[in-house]
Amino acid sequence: MSTPAALDLAFACPAPDCGESVEGRLTAGTAAMTCSACQTETTLPETEALLASRPLTPCPVCGCTELYSQRDFNRKVGLLIVAIGCVLGPWTNWISVVVAILIDFALWMTVPQVAICYSCNAQFRRFAKDRRPGDFDIAVHDVYKFGRRFAPRRERAVAGPKVLHELWTGGPKPGPGSGPLPPLP
Ligand SMILES: [Zn+2]
Ligand SMILES: [Zn+2]
Repeated sequence: MSTPAALDLAFACPAPDCGESVEGRLTAGTAAMTCSACQTETTLPETEALLASRPLTPCPVCGCTELYSQRDFNRKVGLLIVAIGCVLGPWTNWISVVVAILIDFALWMTVPQVAICYSCNAQFRRFAKDRRPGDFDIAVHDVYKFGRRFAPRRERAVAGPKVLHELWTGGPKPGPGSGPLPPLP
């Protein structure tokens, strides 16, 4: 047998009014992760299914079976490199601009992939290339964003990050002081 599968997982703590980033290594024995900010434990029941899957699915945080992948490239770093190339341009006969663009391209080609859950935006890193989910699909993104499809544990996809609260109700944002969110059906 090869070495046991493992992944790096990062997700927003689903505890109400928290939403802090929870990160850790996901191995076959990982049943839960604890938020360092509020100490809430998030169970991860599909860990073993995820680690055995190809391509990666489902998300062990919310149970969503739809994930996408993209290059784990920090666009700000890319822009900074090009900006430096441009600033140095007048003294390098603009060769620095070409070099900066080439460095950018090389970085983009070599950075690893990150897999992301459509429903809760959990991020998965350090997996083999042949396990990467498909590219981002705006149509799939929208059915989750506009509340036409839900993950099995949708409260985890919307309860933590406050900006996503509107997804829970499937309607307009609750106004300030509107009380707790309604229970799931
Ligand atoms: Zn928390
Ligand atoms: Zn998820």
